[in-house]
Amino acid sequence: MTVQGLFSSKSAAAAQISAIPRFAVVGRGFSGMTMAIALMKTVRTPFHLQLFDPNSSVSGGQALSSARALTILNTRVRDLSVSLGDNDDFNDWLCSNTEFRAAVPAAIPGFRQIFVPKEIFSDYVYQRFSEALSARQDITVQVCHEPVVAIRRSHGNRFLLESANPANPLFDTVILATGYGLPDAAETEEAASPVRAQRLVARPHTILLGSGIRVVDHLLQLRDSGYRGQITILSRHGFLPQSHTPNAADPVFPADTLPSTLPEILRFIRSACREAEEGGRSWQSVMNGLRKHARSLWRGLPAHQKRQFNRHLRAIYDSHRNRLPEAIYARLQSELAGGNTLLRRGVVVRRGFGGVFFRPAGSPSEEIVHAERVLDCRCRGPQMNTRLLASLLDQGLAMPDELSLGLAVDQRGQPCLEDGSVVDGLFAVGPLGLGSLPDIDLVPEIVSQAYAVGEHVAERFYPRSKAV
Ligand SMILES: Cc1cc2nc3c(=O)[nH]c(=O)nc-3n(C[C@H](O)[C@H](O)[C@H](O)COP(=O)(O)OP(=O)(O)OC[C@H]3O[C@@H](n4cnc5c(N)ncnc54)[C@H](O)[C@@H]3O)c2cc1C
Repeated sequence: MTVQGLFSSKSAAAAQISAIPRFAVVGRGFSGMTMAIALMKTVRTPFHLQLFDPNSSVSGGQALSSARALTILNTRVRDLSVSLGDNDDFNDWLCSNTEFRAAVPAAIPGFRQIFVPKEIFSDYVYQRFSEALSARQDITVQVCHEPVVAIRRSHGNRFLLESANPANPLFDTVILATGYGLPDAAETEEAASPVRAQRLVARPHTILLGSGIRVVDHLLQLRDSGYRGQITILSRHGFLPQSHTPNAADPVFPADTLPSTLPEILRFIRSACREAEEGGRSWQSVMNGLRKHARSLWRGLPAHQKRQFNRHLRAIYDSHRNRLPEAIYARLQSELAGGNTLLRRGVVVRRGFGGVFFRPAGSPSEEIVHAERVLDCRCRGPQMNTRLLASLLDQGLAMPDELSLGLAVDQRGQPCLEDGSVVDGLFAVGPLGLGSLPDIDLVPEIVSQAYAVGEHVAERFYPRSKAV
């Protein structure tokens, strides 16, 4: 990696409009790293790439953060390749890893069906990034450890990024890969130093807020670290993740005539699941098949039905698509059956000293649930109220999607505007596009999108650089 010299002013930046295209990737989580790999593999002429993220680790991000590195990913190896068109890439990498092969003897004929810890996946992504970089002597990559706070159009079609460095150069292409945003300082603090209110609780008690994979992650980590106190999971809908099948469930979905309204879609999915189970398949294979049609089904729904889905059905959908490996699901069930972990459905009205104010489902009144520690494990969507996104919205470089879940984007993440046009040179890869592209928070979808952006950058802006 070559660290470039820094410029000292906007006019200096203007002077740096060079023949070599400059790309900026904002965010170095999974989406940002995959985007960098995709650019290095698809744009075959020289370029300068700048990666921004205050997170010090290069392969950071929420899903791969090292603090929880040993937890198991909930996707099989076969669906975690970062090499487009080569679904076996991660499996091959594991097979060539002597240490891993020694630790996991059931390696024959390969690791495609298994689930691995995040740490290993993170190593794989980072190694593929390093390999892609060392194969390109003709490019420069600069890693910047600061958040980007605003993006502006400048000098025609170029972009100026505002960060702690007042002298960023102008960029031809900017890719936002900010995912769920910057980690919340309060949240980090809370995890590090739990609220103590021991006088109010008869025995150690921890509250987990939420019901997704993060809750299960935290619950099992607490138990693994020796915590024997009571754990209460407080969730609005109460749908915990379902189980994967023992072997991969190949996608099946009867897609000849797809329904177009929410009630029809629900009936259709229910009957597809029933038929699959009657035919010896699983509902999981229907959910895997549904993912391939989710975008067109979602696009076809009127806004009020999208809202209905979000309010009433998203939690069920998430619990069926983000599934747990069987062994982890069994542990979760035995935790709940043991009575030391309780799932309660209802609304957390507010946090209080030493607990939370909670309104149980079906009850008009609130109660206080005391606990020595409250951990917020709710899956936040992308943060829309950041300075960075505000700068884009203010300048008309992006607009929120219909439900304001993220930015309105097309398939490859280009922001869509009111008049139906898209913004040239700007992309939002990964969860920022969740309101427009269902499942764009999952690894296979992020990989496809990143390569589509790479191809587009190669073809559209630099036609002679098309991948060979
Ligand atoms: C706990 C967990 C487990 C998961 N397990 C799986 C799984 O098994 N299979 C699967 O397919 N998917 C899984 N996912 C989902 C998927 O991996 C994530 O959606 C994906 O990793 C999103 O990555 P990201 O880089 O877009 O976002 P993030 O992980 O949120 O990373 C965004 C990065 O951008 C940086 N950033 C934010 N704002 C700025 C700014 N203004 N300037 C500079 N940098 C900024 C942040 O610091 C962060 O490092 C999981 C997700 C989580 C949270």
